[in-house]
Amino acid sequence: MTKLHLFLAVLTTLLTSYTQAQKIDIQRVEPLHWWIGMKNPTLQILVYGKDIANSKVTLAYPNVKLLEVVTVENPNYLFLYLHIMPEAQAGKLPLKFKQGKIEFTHNYELKNRLKAGEAYKSFTPADVMYLLMPDRFANGDKSNDQIAGMAQGYDRKDDFGRHGGDLKGIENNLDYIKDMGFTSIWLNPVLENNQPKESYHGYAITDFYKVDRRFGTNEDYRKLVETCHNKGLKVVKDVVLNQCGNEHWFIKDLPMKGWIHEFPEYTRSNFRLSTIVDPNASNFDKTLMVTGWFDKHMPDLDERNRFFADYLIQNNIWWIEYAQLDGLRLDTQPYPHKEYVAKWSRAILNEYPNFNIVGEVWEDKPSVVSYYQAGKKNPDGYDSGVPSITDFPLAFAINGCINENDGWDSGSSKLYYMLAQDAQYSNPAGNVIFADNHDISRIATNFNQDIRKMKMATALLLTLRGIPQYLYGTEINMKGPGDNHGILRTDMPGGWEGDATNAFTQKGLTAEQIDLQNYTKKLLNWRKNAQAIHAGKFMHFLPNDNLYVYFRYTDSETVMVVVNNNPNDTKKLDTKRYAERLNGFKNASNVLTNESADLNNLSVPAKTVAIFELKK
Ligand code: CA
Repeated sequence: MTKLHLFLAVLTTLLTSYTQAQKIDIQRVEPLHWWIGMKNPTLQILVYGKDIANSKVTLAYPNVKLLEVVTVENPNYLFLYLHIMPEAQAGKLPLKFKQGKIEFTHNYELKNRLKAGEAYKSFTPADVMYLLMPDRFANGDKSNDQIAGMAQGYDRKDDFGRHGGDLKGIENNLDYIKDMGFTSIWLNPVLENNQPKESYHGYAITDFYKVDRRFGTNEDYRKLVETCHNKGLKVVKDVVLNQCGNEHWFIKDLPMKGWIHEFPEYTRSNFRLSTIVDPNASNFDKTLMVTGWFDKHMPDLDERNRFFADYLIQNNIWWIEYAQLDGLRLDTQPYPHKEYVAKWSRAILNEYPNFNIVGEVWEDKPSVVSYYQAGKKNPDGYDSGVPSITDFPLAFAINGCINENDGWDSGSSKLYYMLAQDAQYSNPAGNVIFADNHDISRIATNFNQDIRKMKMATALLLTLRGIPQYLYGTEINMKGPGDNHGILRTDMPGGWEGDATNAFTQKGLTAEQIDLQNYTKKLLNWRKNAQAIHAGKFMHFLPNDNLYVYFRYTDSETVMVVVNNNPNDTKKLDTKRYAERLNGFKNASNVLTNESADLNNLSVPAKTVAIFELKK
């Protein structure tokens, strides 16, 4: 090598290292932006990039202070904590990163809020929630079925594959949902699930700040909520605090120990919610319930970690504020650390005091489910702060009532005894009630598509206390077994080009399907204005001779519901038994037939639920 060659080689090396060092590598800054005027003045900003921890960070912006710059075990992370004073104005915060002589400025945006936190309304017992799985409802945009670089492609033949449903498909059918009489929609999670298989359901999130591109963009999601609001529909977002997908970017480069629950070998949760409530449970069982993984491809997050705890609370607030949401559905409420859930719910309700959150608590006993509802006086003093819970015990009782003949504790007695336990709940009227959902067998399967039973379940759901949730497709008698989720979450007919039947237009539906759909539509639209159902008290009478009778009533309105659970016989009502609530009423109007009825001569056909508005 000549001197010149040596000189050139040294120069090249120096230039290369200089050029590399020129760049401060910032790959992610989360939250993507924030707002002024939030009640909590503290903001955590996660900065991710190669060796970003070697940076000195400074900020000069009026009324915003950089409180803390935290480095952690992994040098690719920095956690910045800012204090945003009430006087701070919207604008771009110049976050200056300096490594040696190299500087880089990231302009972090603080926006104005569209409305105050108090102005956010939420779902109430006046609402009925339509639950739909975005991948399985309607394919409104074929161009996003297959996205280059995403792990799982389109395969409609695979029950566990991606079927191409998307946000555009939902938007295209909002008028159907609205005309049916539903007032809100709950979408299973829409955030990115870039997992190699079974990614369609959305519960293995790989980016907490990005809508899955196969559904659309963040902006598409925001616009969908806006369109819903313009049509008078509310939107409830499904959120997951317990786990994420193993392809999540931060799982592949963990910030520190204690971000997730790690074990020497794969360790599953015992899935026994009772251990958390049980005064006799071992710590071993309690701990495994919360720290064990849900599935091999779903790492269990440790919400006790200060940095992760803040990250996740802010993430949920970010989506509420960005998309102007109307409520949250919290997935697997008993699985994250319960102290964290209480902290999380209070942080959300601090910003949005009129907000509603429903926690999923999948158990068949009110004593266990009620433990997780805000305001419950638990022996251990725990209060989750989550206003609503999913009433699984009632779902099982509704199914049992309709599918069994009446006996001492079977058939309608099963429903009666379940509702007799309402004192367990701090607010039973706030429970989200349902007969089926995306995880348990569809009622059309349970009832073998018996149209009488389908109508009974609909009538019960729309008149009992609570906030009804309806699973997409149930209104057209769609089947789906609980032990095969891929088929349970089947495609809504009419959502795909070339579908032979179309639930939205009734094309190709059987007369029975149309009958059930029209029945559901009629009751839903009646319920919209039924004050006694929204806000009325509930009183029921012991089932007698296959008849179960209950009342919903306010000072000015009374609705009487008569369940005839006999499979063969029309039953005449002995109204004297119900004098306590019938006193003063002379006439009744049958909500389903619009016919007036004589209170002294009321008959209800076999296996039906009759609904009467009482008149003085
Ligand atoms: Ca699509």
